[in-house]
Amino acid sequence: MLNPKLEQIENSFNVSSLCQINSPLLEQKHVELWLKRDDLIDPVISGNKWRKLKFILNHALALNSQTIISMGGAYSNHLHALAYVAKTLNLNSIAYIRGEQPENFSPTLKDIQHWGMQLRFVSRSEYRELRSCMQYNQYPATQTGEYWLPEVGSTELALLGVAEIIAEIDMDYDHLCVPCGTGTTLAGLINAAKKNVRITGFSALKGGGYLKQEVEHLLFTQSSNWSINLDYHFGGFAKTNNTLFQFMESFYKLQGIALEPVYTGKMLYALFDLISKDQFKPGEKIIAIHTGGLQGHRDN
Ligand SMILES: *Cc1c(COP(=O)(O)O)cnc(C)c1O
Repeated sequence: MLNPKLEQIENSFNVSSLCQINSPLLEQKHVELWLKRDDLIDPVISGNKWRKLKFILNHALALNSQTIISMGGAYSNHLHALAYVAKTLNLNSIAYIRGEQPENFSPTLKDIQHWGMQLRFVSRSEYRELRSCMQYNQYPATQTGEYWLPEVGSTELALLGVAEIIAEIDMDYDHLCVPCGTGTTLAGLINAAKKNVRITGFSALKGGGYLKQEVEHLLFTQSSNWSINLDYHFGGFAKTNNTLFQFMESFYKLQGIALEPVYTGKMLYALFDLISKDQFKPGEKIIAIHTGGLQGHRDN
């Protein structure tokens, strides 16, 4: 059962609608491209981070936790969403941040501190150590009422939330596409999607070959209707170039939809490139998920 407080938060959200993308290329190739707008859910609690947090927070509330402790980088969409929801739920929150305390805080860090999240800066080796604590009651949640949420943890609960994306799509489609960081969102989609849908994850990082195995571990049953494209990382995680920015800018001009360059921008660039290279058949319908995350790309 969903805690009424979480239900109330969800009721305040906007609908994650499906919108069709129009472009001369798509017309010429007779391919339909639809965007599932998880970016619209909420201006702060963005896209797939809410999907992943929902049932984890439900678990934490069921345990009567008072404090959620988690981890992330200085631009983390996860911490940004968590800090805000924790504040809304009247929970304390603590974050272990990778790296030394910076002189100037990123917009993300400013926000989460403002929302009352306690920040603890840790070295890369300490950070790695934290990552290995996978259960909610493991270090550093050593006090009663503390709930530990590691970077890749409580995945069964995260997968449950991601599956709701599939339930919301009320049209037939051939392809489902999503950007990949840890691959958890991709795994949740594979678990929930029909087996005749072809699912592609687009790695946001360089050397994402290991992701395949990570995703396989998260699947309820083995399946072969999915793959991970490793070709559009643009040099590495959060690396960008002019080609990518020009693409995002023209996409915004034509569609009125803002993208960010770490995840969804790269995936959509990839899709247009692959469509132009006839990697999709005429008549096919693609649904791509806009995972949100625009907060990580502000200048102030
Ligand atoms: C975290 C994040 C992802 C990656 O999700 P994974 O489940 O880690 O693969 C994709 N898009 C955005 C905007 C994110 O914040």
